[in-house]
Amino acid sequence: MNNENLTKQVVEGKQKTVKKAEPGKRAFFEGIRSQTARGSWTIFPELCKGCGLCIEKCPTHVISWSSELGAYGTNRVEVKADGCITCRICAWHCPDAAISVDLKEKRQ
Ligand code: SF4
Ligand code: SF4
Repeated sequence: MNNENLTKQVVEGKQKTVKKAEPGKRAFFEGIRSQTARGSWTIFPELCKGCGLCIEKCPTHVISWSSELGAYGTNRVEVKADGCITCRICAWHCPDAAISVDLKEKRQ
């Protein structure tokens, strides 16, 4: 997912709650955004089915199971943001687009 889909941000300490539009509908998914050294990492719990693919693919092993539940009553994932290199591999492999990884824009 990209920034165009992120329509609202509410600052809550180091994490932000963000919302993105559901394609073709007016409903929104609420995400939890963590700041990383090079950008941000966002999980959308309503989309996470707890398959664990992102945990397996992360090269720095910073994704783990959360104690909170996702869409199907399974544990969702969370990130240890200070170890995230913002490579986007987790987002590319998530079959349900439950992760959004965004790089900071470069200043000219
Ligand atoms: S962006 Fe890369 S380093 Fe960060 S959590 Fe995803 S796979 Fe791991
Ligand atoms: S790959 Fe996607 S659906 Fe599977 S556990 Fe990770 S975030 Fe959840």
